Amino acid sequence: MNRKKINSARMPVYRDSGFELLNSKLTAETFRQETENNREPENYIYSRYRNPTVVSAENEVIKLENCNWALLTQSGMSAIDTALSVFQKGKNTRPWLFFSEIYGGSISYVESVLKQRRGIDAHYFNPSGESYILKDFEKTLRILKPELVYVESVSNPMLIVADIPALVKIAKKADCRVILDNTFATPYLFRPLECGVDLVIHSVTKYLSGHGNISAGVVCGNDEQLLKKAIEYRKFVGHMMSPDDAYRLETQIKTFSLRFQCQCDNAFRLAAYLSENKKIERVWYPGLVSHGTYEVARKLFNTKGFGAMITFDLKGRSKAEKAVKRDRFISEVSESIKLIPTLGDPDTILMPVEAVWGAKYPEPGMIRLSVGFEEYQGLENIISSALKKL
Ligand SMILES: *Cc1c(COP(=O)(O)O)cnc(C)c1O
Repeated sequence: MNRKKINSARMPVYRDSGFELLNSKLTAETFRQETENNREPENYIYSRYRNPTVVSAENEVIKLENCNWALLTQSGMSAIDTALSVFQKGKNTRPWLFFSEIYGGSISYVESVLKQRRGIDAHYFNPSGESYILKDFEKTLRILKPELVYVESVSNPMLIVADIPALVKIAKKADCRVILDNTFATPYLFRPLECGVDLVIHSVTKYLSGHGNISAGVVCGNDEQLLKKAIEYRKFVGHMMSPDDAYRLETQIKTFSLRFQCQCDNAFRLAAYLSENKKIERVWYPGLVSHGTYEVARKLFNTKGFGAMITFDLKGRSKAEKAVKRDRFISEVSESIKLIPTLGDPDTILMPVEAVWGAKYPEPGMIRLSVGFEEYQGLENIISSALKKL
Protein backbone atom coordinates (compact mmCIF):
# COMPACT_ATOMS: atom_id res chain seq x y z
CA MET A 1 0.00 0.00 0.00
CA ASN A 2 1.19 3.47 -0.84
CA ARG A 3 0.92 5.62 2.28
CA LYS A 4 0.31 9.17 1.19
CA LYS A 5 1.40 12.01 3.46
CA ILE A 6 -1.76 13.58 4.93
CA ASN A 7 -1.81 17.36 5.41
CA SER A 8 -2.89 17.16 9.05
CA ALA A 9 -2.15 20.24 11.18
CA ARG A 10 -1.92 18.15 14.34
CA MET A 11 0.35 15.33 15.41
CA PRO A 12 -1.68 12.13 14.95
CA VAL A 13 -1.74 9.25 17.42
CA TYR A 14 0.96 6.82 16.29
CA ARG A 15 -0.10 3.57 17.88
CA ASP A 16 2.69 1.49 16.32
CA SER A 17 4.52 -0.77 18.76
CA GLY A 18 7.33 -1.19 16.20
CA PHE A 19 8.09 1.11 13.23
CA GLU A 20 8.95 -0.06 9.71
CA LEU A 21 12.67 -0.04 8.92
CA LEU A 22 12.53 -1.36 5.30
CA ASN A 23 15.92 -3.08 4.97
CA SER A 24 18.91 -4.27 6.93
CA LYS A 25 21.05 -1.25 6.00
CA LEU A 26 18.52 1.20 7.49
CA THR A 27 18.02 -1.10 10.45
CA ALA A 28 21.74 -1.16 11.22
CA GLU A 29 22.04 2.61 10.85
CA THR A 30 18.95 3.28 12.99
CA PHE A 31 20.12 0.96 15.76
CA ARG A 32 23.52 2.63 15.68
CA GLN A 33 21.86 6.05 16.04
CA GLU A 34 19.77 4.70 18.89
CA THR A 35 22.90 4.36 21.04
CA GLU A 36 23.12 8.20 20.96
CA ASN A 37 19.83 8.38 22.93
CA ASN A 38 18.47 11.43 21.09
CA ARG A 39 15.07 12.64 22.26
CA GLU A 40 13.82 13.06 18.67
CA PRO A 41 15.36 10.20 16.65
CA GLU A 42 15.63 10.40 12.88
CA ASN A 43 13.81 7.07 12.58
CA TYR A 44 11.65 5.54 15.25
CA ILE A 45 12.24 1.90 16.25
CA TYR A 46 9.89 0.81 18.98
CA SER A 47 7.35 2.78 21.04
CA ARG A 48 8.86 1.81 24.38
CA TYR A 49 12.06 3.60 23.18
CA ARG A 50 10.45 6.70 21.68
CA ASN A 51 7.13 7.57 20.09
CA PRO A 52 6.44 10.60 17.83
CA THR A 53 3.12 11.45 19.51
CA VAL A 54 4.82 11.45 22.91
CA VAL A 55 7.69 13.61 21.56
CA SER A 56 5.14 16.09 20.24
CA ALA A 57 3.46 16.38 23.66
CA GLU A 58 6.91 16.75 25.27
CA ASN A 59 7.54 19.77 23.06
CA GLU A 60 4.50 21.46 24.65
CA VAL A 61 5.93 20.85 28.14
CA ILE A 62 9.31 22.27 27.02
CA LYS A 63 7.57 25.52 26.02
CA LEU A 64 5.82 25.72 29.40
CA GLU A 65 8.88 24.99 31.56
CA ASN A 66 11.20 26.98 29.26
CA CYS A 67 13.77 24.18 29.29
CA ASN A 68 15.92 22.21 26.83
CA TRP A 69 14.20 18.87 27.20
CA ALA A 70 11.25 17.02 28.75
CA LEU A 71 10.54 13.30 28.96
CA LEU A 72 7.01 12.06 29.54
CA THR A 73 6.36 8.92 31.59
CA GLN A 74 3.22 7.00 32.46
CA SER A 75 2.88 8.42 35.98
CA GLY A 76 4.31 11.03 38.30
CA MET A 77 5.96 8.23 40.28
CA SER A 78 7.75 6.87 37.20
CA ALA A 79 9.01 10.41 36.49
CA ILE A 80 10.37 10.56 40.06
CA ASP A 81 11.93 7.11 39.63
CA THR A 82 13.52 8.19 36.34
CA ALA A 83 14.87 11.47 37.73
CA LEU A 84 16.40 9.85 40.80
CA SER A 85 17.78 6.81 38.97
CA VAL A 86 19.79 9.16 36.74
CA PHE A 87 21.97 9.83 39.79
CA GLN A 88 22.27 6.23 40.95
CA LYS A 89 25.65 4.65 40.33
CA GLY A 90 25.47 1.16 41.79
CA LYS A 91 27.12 2.15 45.01
CA ASN A 92 26.37 5.74 45.95
CA THR A 93 29.00 6.94 48.36
CA ARG A 94 27.22 10.09 49.56
CA PRO A 95 23.73 10.16 51.12
CA TRP A 96 20.57 11.61 49.54
CA LEU A 97 18.50 14.20 51.39
CA PHE A 98 14.70 14.39 51.05
CA PHE A 99 12.50 17.13 52.45
CA SER A 100 10.18 15.45 54.96
CA GLU A 101 7.02 17.22 53.70
CA ILE A 102 7.06 15.68 50.21
CA TYR A 103 4.13 13.75 48.70
CA GLY A 104 3.23 10.60 50.69
CA GLY A 105 3.82 8.35 47.68
CA SER A 106 7.32 9.78 47.34
CA ILE A 107 8.07 9.03 51.01
CA SER A 108 6.86 5.44 50.45
CA TYR A 109 9.12 5.24 47.38
CA VAL A 110 12.13 6.45 49.39
CA GLU A 111 11.45 3.95 52.15
CA SER A 112 10.48 0.90 50.16
CA VAL A 113 12.41 1.28 46.89
CA LEU A 114 15.45 3.49 47.57
CA LYS A 115 16.28 2.40 51.11
CA GLN A 116 15.08 -1.19 51.32
CA ARG A 117 15.68 -2.38 47.77
CA ARG A 118 18.47 -0.19 46.42
CA GLY A 119 20.42 0.44 49.59
CA ILE A 120 20.47 4.24 49.22
CA ASP A 121 21.45 6.10 52.38
CA ALA A 122 18.41 8.43 52.45
CA HIS A 123 17.81 11.11 55.09
CA TYR A 124 15.07 13.67 55.74
CA PHE A 125 15.13 17.41 56.29
CA ASN A 126 12.30 18.69 58.51
CA PRO A 127 10.64 22.10 58.51
CA SER A 128 10.61 24.12 61.67
CA GLY A 129 6.96 24.89 62.44
CA GLU A 130 5.45 26.10 59.20
CA SER A 131 8.55 26.99 57.20
CA TYR A 132 11.96 25.71 56.16
CA ILE A 133 14.86 27.43 57.90
CA LEU A 134 17.72 28.11 55.48
CA LYS A 135 20.33 28.10 58.26
CA ASP A 136 19.20 24.61 59.32
CA PHE A 137 19.40 23.47 55.71
CA GLU A 138 22.92 24.84 55.36
CA LYS A 139 23.98 23.08 58.55
CA THR A 140 22.42 19.78 57.45
CA LEU A 141 24.36 19.90 54.17
CA ARG A 142 27.58 20.67 56.02
CA ILE A 143 27.17 17.68 58.34
CA LEU A 144 25.57 15.15 55.98
CA LYS A 145 27.36 16.11 52.71
CA PRO A 146 24.58 14.68 50.52
CA GLU A 147 25.06 14.36 46.77
CA LEU A 148 21.47 15.31 46.02
CA VAL A 149 18.51 17.08 47.60
CA TYR A 150 14.89 16.32 46.72
CA VAL A 151 12.26 18.96 47.50
CA GLU A 152 8.77 20.16 46.50
CA SER A 153 8.05 23.81 45.72
CA VAL A 154 4.83 23.65 47.79
CA SER A 155 4.22 20.95 50.42
CA ASN A 156 1.12 18.93 51.10
CA PRO A 157 -1.22 19.39 53.04
CA MET A 158 0.28 22.38 54.94
CA LEU A 159 1.31 24.22 51.74
CA ILE A 160 4.76 25.24 52.95
CA VAL A 161 6.48 27.09 50.11
CA ALA A 162 10.22 26.43 49.79
CA ASP A 163 12.56 29.30 48.91
CA ILE A 164 13.98 27.35 45.96
CA PRO A 165 16.47 29.97 44.63
CA ALA A 166 17.99 30.29 48.12
CA LEU A 167 18.07 26.51 48.64
CA VAL A 168 19.72 26.00 45.25
CA LYS A 169 22.42 28.55 46.07
CA ILE A 170 23.24 26.75 49.31
CA ALA A 171 23.14 23.33 47.61
CA LYS A 172 25.44 24.39 44.76
CA LYS A 173 28.01 25.68 47.25
CA ALA A 174 27.92 22.25 48.88
CA ASP A 175 28.38 20.51 45.50
CA CYS A 176 24.91 19.04 45.77
CA ARG A 177 22.35 18.42 42.98
CA VAL A 178 18.73 19.58 43.37
CA ILE A 179 15.67 17.71 42.12
CA LEU A 180 12.35 19.49 42.46
CA ASP A 181 8.77 18.25 42.30
CA ASN A 182 6.95 21.30 40.92
CA THR A 183 3.48 19.70 40.72
CA PHE A 184 1.77 22.17 43.10
CA ALA A 185 3.37 25.41 41.85
CA THR A 186 3.30 24.45 38.15
CA PRO A 187 5.36 26.36 35.54
CA TYR A 188 2.62 29.02 35.57
CA LEU A 189 3.82 30.26 38.97
CA PHE A 190 7.44 29.19 38.97
CA ARG A 191 10.05 27.82 36.55
CA PRO A 192 12.71 26.19 38.73
CA LEU A 193 15.21 25.36 35.97
CA GLU A 194 15.77 29.09 35.48
CA CYS A 195 17.29 29.32 38.97
CA GLY A 196 19.62 26.35 38.67
CA VAL A 197 17.54 23.33 39.76
CA ASP A 198 19.02 20.26 38.02
CA LEU A 199 15.84 18.31 37.28
CA VAL A 200 12.16 19.20 37.61
CA ILE A 201 9.44 16.59 37.78
CA HIS A 202 5.65 16.90 37.62
CA SER A 203 2.76 14.62 38.24
CA VAL A 204 1.13 15.48 34.89
CA THR A 205 -1.90 13.63 36.27
CA LYS A 206 -2.66 16.85 38.16
CA TYR A 207 -2.68 20.41 36.76
CA LEU A 208 -0.83 19.97 33.46
CA SER A 209 -3.41 17.52 32.10
CA GLY A 210 -5.98 19.03 34.45
CA HIS A 211 -9.10 16.97 33.76
CA GLY A 212 -8.66 14.00 36.06
CA ASN A 213 -8.54 11.64 33.08
CA ILE A 214 -4.82 10.98 32.44
CA SER A 215 -2.13 9.35 34.53
CA ALA A 216 1.27 10.74 33.53
CA GLY A 217 4.50 12.32 34.68
CA VAL A 218 7.35 14.33 33.22
CA VAL A 219 11.04 14.95 33.90
CA CYS A 220 12.40 18.29 32.63
CA GLY A 221 15.98 19.51 32.44
CA ASN A 222 18.63 21.48 30.56
CA ASP A 223 21.69 19.24 30.95
CA GLU A 224 22.38 16.99 27.91
CA GLN A 225 24.18 14.31 29.96
CA LEU A 226 21.25 13.96 32.32
CA LEU A 227 18.88 13.74 29.33
CA LYS A 228 20.79 10.79 27.83
CA LYS A 229 20.78 8.92 31.14
CA ALA A 230 17.08 9.59 31.67
CA ILE A 231 16.18 8.43 28.12
CA GLU A 232 18.14 5.21 28.67
CA TYR A 233 16.49 4.57 32.01
CA ARG A 234 12.96 5.23 30.71
CA LYS A 235 13.64 2.89 27.78
CA PHE A 236 15.17 0.01 29.73
CA VAL A 237 12.69 0.09 32.60
CA GLY A 238 9.68 0.72 30.33
CA HIS A 239 8.35 3.95 31.84
CA MET A 240 7.17 5.33 28.46
CA MET A 241 3.82 7.11 28.25
CA SER A 242 1.17 5.71 25.90
CA PRO A 243 0.61 7.61 22.60
CA ASP A 244 -3.14 7.88 23.25
CA ASP A 245 -2.54 9.62 26.57
CA ALA A 246 0.13 11.82 24.95
CA TYR A 247 -2.33 12.91 22.28
CA ARG A 248 -4.96 13.84 24.86
CA LEU A 249 -2.33 15.60 26.95
CA GLU A 250 -1.22 17.68 23.97
CA THR A 251 -4.80 18.90 23.54
CA GLN A 252 -5.43 19.52 27.23
CA ILE A 253 -2.12 21.21 28.01
CA LYS A 254 -2.97 24.01 25.58
CA THR A 255 -5.52 25.35 28.08
CA PHE A 256 -3.26 24.82 31.11
CA SER A 257 -2.40 28.47 31.79
CA LEU A 258 -6.02 29.61 31.45
CA ARG A 259 -7.25 26.84 33.71
CA PHE A 260 -4.61 27.31 36.36
CA GLN A 261 -4.95 31.08 36.44
CA CYS A 262 -8.66 30.63 37.12
CA GLN A 263 -7.96 27.97 39.77
CA CYS A 264 -5.49 30.31 41.53
CA ASP A 265 -7.99 33.19 41.42
CA ASN A 266 -10.80 31.01 42.78
CA ALA A 267 -8.54 29.66 45.55
CA PHE A 268 -7.38 33.16 46.52
CA ARG A 269 -10.96 34.40 46.88
CA LEU A 270 -12.12 31.25 48.66
CA ALA A 271 -9.19 31.30 51.13
CA ALA A 272 -10.03 34.91 52.01
CA TYR A 273 -13.71 33.99 52.45
CA LEU A 274 -12.92 30.93 54.62
CA SER A 275 -10.49 32.84 56.83
CA GLU A 276 -13.32 35.25 57.77
CA ASN A 277 -15.89 32.52 58.44
CA LYS A 278 -16.79 31.96 62.09
CA LYS A 279 -17.19 28.18 61.69
CA ILE A 280 -13.53 27.88 60.77
CA GLU A 281 -10.61 27.77 63.19
CA ARG A 282 -7.79 28.30 60.71
CA VAL A 283 -6.98 28.37 57.00
CA TRP A 284 -3.64 27.38 55.46
CA TYR A 285 -3.07 29.09 52.13
CA PRO A 286 0.25 30.66 51.07
CA GLY A 287 -1.63 33.70 49.77
CA LEU A 288 -2.82 34.62 53.27
CA VAL A 289 -0.56 36.88 55.35
CA SER A 290 -1.12 34.47 58.27
CA HIS A 291 0.66 31.62 56.45
CA GLY A 292 4.22 30.86 57.59
CA THR A 293 5.60 31.15 54.05
CA TYR A 294 3.49 34.03 52.67
CA GLU A 295 6.59 36.18 52.03
CA VAL A 296 8.43 33.32 50.31
CA ALA A 297 5.40 32.65 48.12
CA ARG A 298 5.12 36.31 47.13
CA LYS A 299 8.74 36.42 46.11
CA LEU A 300 8.82 33.03 44.37
CA PHE A 301 5.54 33.37 42.49
CA ASN A 302 6.12 37.00 41.61
CA THR A 303 2.53 37.87 42.73
CA LYS A 304 1.04 35.86 39.83
CA GLY A 305 -0.95 33.71 42.24
CA PHE A 306 -0.55 31.37 45.19
CA GLY A 307 -1.66 27.99 43.89
CA ALA A 308 -5.04 26.31 44.09
CA MET A 309 -4.79 24.15 47.21
CA ILE A 310 -6.36 25.21 50.53
CA THR A 311 -6.35 23.40 53.86
CA PHE A 312 -8.69 24.48 56.67
CA ASP A 313 -9.62 23.37 60.16
CA LEU A 314 -13.22 23.43 61.38
CA LYS A 315 -13.99 24.86 64.80
CA GLY A 316 -15.11 22.47 67.55
CA ARG A 317 -14.84 22.16 71.32
CA SER A 318 -13.37 18.65 71.14
CA LYS A 319 -11.80 16.29 68.61
CA ALA A 320 -15.02 14.28 68.58
CA GLU A 321 -17.11 17.36 67.80
CA LYS A 322 -14.70 18.38 65.05
CA ALA A 323 -14.97 14.91 63.49
CA VAL A 324 -18.77 15.13 63.49
CA LYS A 325 -18.67 18.58 61.87
CA ARG A 326 -16.16 17.43 59.27
CA ASP A 327 -18.37 14.49 58.25
CA ARG A 328 -21.45 16.74 58.16
CA PHE A 329 -19.62 19.26 55.97
CA ILE A 330 -18.39 16.55 53.58
CA SER A 331 -21.87 15.13 53.24
CA GLU A 332 -23.52 18.59 52.81
CA VAL A 333 -21.26 19.52 49.86
CA SER A 334 -20.98 16.02 48.36
CA GLU A 335 -23.35 16.70 45.45
CA SER A 336 -20.95 19.32 44.06
CA ILE A 337 -17.63 18.90 45.88
CA LYS A 338 -16.67 15.25 45.75
CA LEU A 339 -14.26 13.38 47.98
CA ILE A 340 -11.66 12.26 45.42
CA PRO A 341 -8.08 11.37 46.39
CA THR A 342 -6.29 13.43 43.75
CA LEU A 343 -5.91 17.14 42.95
CA GLY A 344 -5.94 19.52 40.01
CA ASP A 345 -9.32 18.35 38.69
CA PRO A 346 -11.65 20.78 36.82
CA ASP A 347 -14.10 20.81 39.75
CA THR A 348 -13.26 21.55 43.36
CA ILE A 349 -12.69 18.29 45.25
CA LEU A 350 -11.77 17.57 48.86
CA MET A 351 -9.93 15.20 51.18
CA PRO A 352 -10.28 14.72 54.96
CA VAL A 353 -6.71 15.28 56.23
CA GLU A 354 -6.80 12.90 59.20
CA ALA A 355 -7.91 9.94 57.07
CA VAL A 356 -4.80 10.24 54.90
CA TRP A 357 -2.14 12.04 56.94
CA GLY A 358 -3.43 10.95 60.37
CA ALA A 359 -0.02 9.83 61.62
CA LYS A 360 1.42 13.29 60.96
CA TYR A 361 -1.70 15.44 61.34
CA PRO A 362 -4.20 13.78 63.69
CA GLU A 363 -6.58 16.70 63.21
CA PRO A 364 -10.21 15.60 62.74
CA GLY A 365 -11.40 19.09 61.72
CA MET A 366 -8.98 19.48 58.84
CA ILE A 367 -10.07 19.33 55.20
CA ARG A 368 -7.92 19.85 52.10
CA LEU A 369 -9.49 21.46 49.05
CA SER A 370 -8.22 21.25 45.50
CA VAL A 371 -9.96 24.27 43.99
CA GLY A 372 -11.30 23.89 40.47
CA PHE A 373 -11.97 26.28 37.62
CA GLU A 374 -15.73 26.42 38.00
CA GLU A 375 -17.57 29.74 38.29
CA TYR A 376 -16.54 31.24 41.66
CA GLN A 377 -19.75 32.49 43.27
CA GLY A 378 -21.52 29.15 42.92
CA LEU A 379 -18.63 27.45 44.66
CA GLU A 380 -18.65 29.92 47.55
CA ASN A 381 -22.42 29.54 47.91
CA ILE A 382 -22.18 25.74 48.24
CA ILE A 383 -19.49 26.02 50.91
CA SER A 384 -21.20 28.84 52.74
CA SER A 385 -24.53 27.02 52.98
CA ALA A 386 -22.78 23.83 54.23
CA LEU A 387 -20.90 25.83 56.89
CA LYS A 388 -24.14 27.47 58.05
CA LYS A 389 -25.57 24.02 58.82
CA LEU A 390 -22.72 23.04 61.16
C1 LIG B 1 0.25 12.98 42.74
C2 LIG B 1 1.62 13.41 43.04
C3 LIG B 1 2.73 12.63 42.69
C4 LIG B 1 2.59 11.27 42.06
O1 LIG B 1 2.08 11.36 40.77
P1 LIG B 1 1.23 10.18 40.06
O2 LIG B 1 0.86 10.76 38.75
O3 LIG B 1 0.10 9.85 40.94
O4 LIG B 1 2.17 9.01 39.94
C5 LIG B 1 3.99 13.15 42.96
N1 LIG B 1 4.15 14.35 43.54
C6 LIG B 1 3.11 15.11 43.90
C7 LIG B 1 3.36 16.43 44.54
C8 LIG B 1 1.81 14.68 43.67
O5 LIG B 1 0.78 15.45 44.05
